[in-house]
Amino acid sequence: MKVPLLDLRPPLEELRDEIIEAVTQVIDSTRYIMGPEIDSLEKKIAEYCGTVDAVGVSSGTDALLLSLMVLDVGPGDLVLTSNFSFFATAGVVARLKATPVFVDIDPVTYNIDPEQLRLTLAKMDVGTRKRVKAIIPVHLYGQCADMKEILNIAAEFKIPVIEDSAQAIGAEYEIDGKKRQAGSLSDFGCFSFFPSKNLGGVGDGGIITVNKPELAEQLRLKRVHGGERKYYHRVIGGNFRLDPIQATVIRVKLPHLNRWHNQRQDNAEYYNKLFAETSLGGRISIPQVMHSQRLENPHIYNQYVIRAEQRDKLQSFLAENEISTEVYYPLPFHLQECFLDLGGKAGDFPVSETAAEEVLALPVYPGLSRQMQEAVVEKIEEFYQA
Ligand SMILES: *Cc1c(COP(=O)(O)O)cnc(C)c1O
Repeated sequence: MKVPLLDLRPPLEELRDEIIEAVTQVIDSTRYIMGPEIDSLEKKIAEYCGTVDAVGVSSGTDALLLSLMVLDVGPGDLVLTSNFSFFATAGVVARLKATPVFVDIDPVTYNIDPEQLRLTLAKMDVGTRKRVKAIIPVHLYGQCADMKEILNIAAEFKIPVIEDSAQAIGAEYEIDGKKRQAGSLSDFGCFSFFPSKNLGGVGDGGIITVNKPELAEQLRLKRVHGGERKYYHRVIGGNFRLDPIQATVIRVKLPHLNRWHNQRQDNAEYYNKLFAETSLGGRISIPQVMHSQRLENPHIYNQYVIRAEQRDKLQSFLAENEISTEVYYPLPFHLQECFLDLGGKAGDFPVSETAAEEVLALPVYPGLSRQMQEAVVEKIEEFYQA
């Protein structure tokens, strides 16, 4: 049975007419830059995420970049982040000529390890520590990082926090007995509408959630080249605007998001059940959900990621059997060629290095059938029995 890693058609088919209608209205309006679609989506996303405001931007990458620009991150500055994420998380830091400082991850959640974060800061002398301008935890695969600890450390050292929530829109986290959403926990919540995310557009897009109105104001200013008055520039920004066509598609899809989260969660639970019935214990391990007490969406499964022995061979075997999988991510940041001048070498970050060798994302998208999931697990069993 052919099983793709992702199929964007099932959710599209459901809403096709509504989406085409909404896009047509934008085109007919001739309002192609900013405008009511952006304002309306910003309100709805802020409401969905439980934040005071949201600022639409051109992509998840630009959400991170613009947030760093608002914090005035530049040459000589340091930004602490997870060593194991999509390239954008660290790339934006380097683009501003600041230096990313990598921190190893937790082996169970793949998210930044707060203990390592604390150690990294503790090892710095006072002068170096003063140069740390932000911490960027990533809510990888759709589950929040250990924000309680991270926020404690950030408060102690007075460092702003930017959540890379690109994979985690709607993921919940309990803090001080309150249910909160990814992106609402810190200074900036950066989201992506890249088509493969749980809430994807028909192209690139992103949004930043904030609780402080002055940050929203700064983001809006730098989103359009820093011009308060047209053609007069007090500060330097960029063109980081969200496209109204993307905004309208996202607005149509948003009311269905939690249902799609639930479908992904159902699929994840079905994999868990199927794997529990196999004799694969030890060869593979399934994703673990933390902080699940009283939360409906502790994990939104943008990816369902297993750890597998002989991962590359397993992936090839599955590919031969028409089952698509993906490795997010095969190389931690410290070993990326473009970051080698920072002095990273094999062995520096053992947890992310092992994860990079073992992780494998299985198809988990809404619309995946039970039979397809059974085929995936059967083939994995077959591989290890051979
Ligand atoms: C997708 C993603 C981004 C970047 O989002 P784009 O919209 O593709 O620019 C950043 N960080 C993480 C963790 C992502 O998954």
